[in-house]
Amino acid sequence: MKTIITTFLIVSKLLHAAPLNVVVTLPDLADITRQVGGNQVEIFCIASGREDPHNVPLKPSAITKLARADLFIQLGLGLEHAYAPALVKESRNQKIQQDGPGFLDLSGGVKPLNVPTSLDRKGGDVHPNGNPHYNTDPVYGQMMARGIAAKLAQLRPESAALFKANGDKVVAMLQGRMAGWKTKLAGRNIKFVSYHPDLAYFAARFGLTQVGTIQPKPGIEPGPRDIQALAAAMQQNGVKLIVKESFYSDRIPNQLAGLTGAKVVSIPIMVNGTPAAKDYVSLIDSLANAFAP
Ligand SMILES: [Zn+2]
Repeated sequence: MKTIITTFLIVSKLLHAAPLNVVVTLPDLADITRQVGGNQVEIFCIASGREDPHNVPLKPSAITKLARADLFIQLGLGLEHAYAPALVKESRNQKIQQDGPGFLDLSGGVKPLNVPTSLDRKGGDVHPNGNPHYNTDPVYGQMMARGIAAKLAQLRPESAALFKANGDKVVAMLQGRMAGWKTKLAGRNIKFVSYHPDLAYFAARFGLTQVGTIQPKPGIEPGPRDIQALAAAMQQNGVKLIVKESFYSDRIPNQLAGLTGAKVVSIPIMVNGTPAAKDYVSLIDSLANAFAP
């Protein structure tokens, strides 16, 4: 009888435990956290996925959500620098401050690409710590799932086995899709330019060649001479594809297409960036389809 009551109490505690309040910066993190945390988490996402991820407009509701959050998750490497540190500070929630138990920056295991030299930094580069867009590489997607599972387990040890199993499921699903993405993209000599260097990790993973970016430096808009130089480089290298992140204007991409004959394809660089990119795996699918229709 005593065992039955104890078991009942444990089950009842698990069933009735209030979900952990989690605030994340990007919809990619919301999707993975939802898959790992299930009904043990309630998620608020700061970015919609349709805006420039470096410059997310502030929602007043974010402060309220952060004030009662058990966990805050960011991609890191400075991507959210323009808004997240100020919001977290403003929330006055000790748990989620940078040294608190409820702060998770997922970039710890990333080997950053495009780390600027001191010379590059003069132009007001928005990536002073290197390229933060590692979410476009599904191998780092696996790392994100593992990191989120470990942190949730730390915050709620009684559900650790569930979080671990759910995290492993996400990892296995992404691993299972790798061969298909590789077959679609690798060895096809795909050359491209993008507006901003947000595909560096995706290109490195799948063997694509990025010939340049419309922005001469991350976050800096081009002048007429930059556009001429990029058009020349595209023609020299036989680049037929301009990918335009959905939130940028198509004015310069179209101008460049006029100069070179390349075609412009709109892409998501995070979940919800386009309607097809409705979750993390379909984000990677959408990117693969943009490069190899
Ligand atoms: Zn960027």
